[in-house]
Amino acid sequence: MIEIKDLHKSYKMGSNSLHVLKGINFTAEAGELVAIMGSSGSGKSTLLNILGMLDEADSGDYTLDGVPIKNLNETKAAKYRNKFLGFIFQSFNLINYKSALENVALPLYYQKIPRKERQVRAMKYLEQVGLKEWAHHLPSELSGGQKQRVAIARAMAAEPKVLLADEPTGALDSTTSYEVMDLIQKINDQGNTILVVTHEDDIAHMCKRIIHLKDGVIEKDEKVTQVRASQYV
Ligand code: ADP
Ligand code: MG
Repeated sequence: MIEIKDLHKSYKMGSNSLHVLKGINFTAEAGELVAIMGSSGSGKSTLLNILGMLDEADSGDYTLDGVPIKNLNETKAAKYRNKFLGFIFQSFNLINYKSALENVALPLYYQKIPRKERQVRAMKYLEQVGLKEWAHHLPSELSGGQKQRVAIARAMAAEPKVLLADEPTGALDSTTSYEVMDLIQKINDQGNTILVVTHEDDIAHMCKRIIHLKDGVIEKDEKVTQVRASQYV
C-alpha cells in the first residue's frame, strides 16, 4: 500500500537548513496498523505530512497503492489525497458551527457525492463510532473523546485506502486515549490500513508494528508480538 525509498526532507530557515528526514525506507502492506514513534521534533509529523501528500520530500520515492507520488500538480494531488487518504489530528479539526453529522458529511460534498447519499453515509459512519445519538449536536456539546470519534467517522466516510493519524490521543486523558485506540483497532480489523503517530509507548503498543524514528532515520522497525488491548473498553 505504501512504499517509500530513501526519503529526505530539510527545512530551510534563512541561511540554515535543518535536515529532518535523512533517508527513510519502509513499506506497509494493506491492512497494517503501524505506529510511528519518536521523541518530539524527531520528524514524525514531517513524515506523516509527506505520506499524506500535504508536503513533499526533497528527494526519494513514494508509491501509494501502486501510484508514484511525485511532481503532481495541485489538482492531481488533491484528487489523490481525497481518493486515497483520510486524516485524523490531535486537535480534531472539526468545524465548530456544524453538527457532528455535517462535519462527517463535508468531505463527501467535495467528492461530489449527492446530498441524500452524503447524509446516509455520514450517519452510517457516525453509528460505527457509536455517536448516532449525537448526530445533531455541535462539537462544543461533545467531550474530547466524542470529538475525536466524529473526526474518525469523517476520515472514514470518504472511504480512503489509508488513514493517517497524527497524535490522535495527544489531547485526551489516558482512559479516553485507550477508547479511541480501541476504535482504531476495530477499524483496522475491518481491513483498513492505518498509520498512527505517537510519542506514547502504551499507545504504540496497541498497534501491530512500531517504526521508531531517531536522528532522521528509522532506528528500529519492530513487530509487536503482544498487541495491547484496551483495558478500559
Ligand atoms: P515531531 O512531529 O516528531 O515532533 P516534526 O516533524 O514536527 O517533529 O518536526 C521535526 C523538526 O523539524 C523539528 O525540529 C521542527 O522544529 C522542525 N520543523 C517542522 N516543521 C517545520 C517548518 N515548517 N519549518 C521549519 N522547521 C520545521
Ligand atoms: Mg508532530
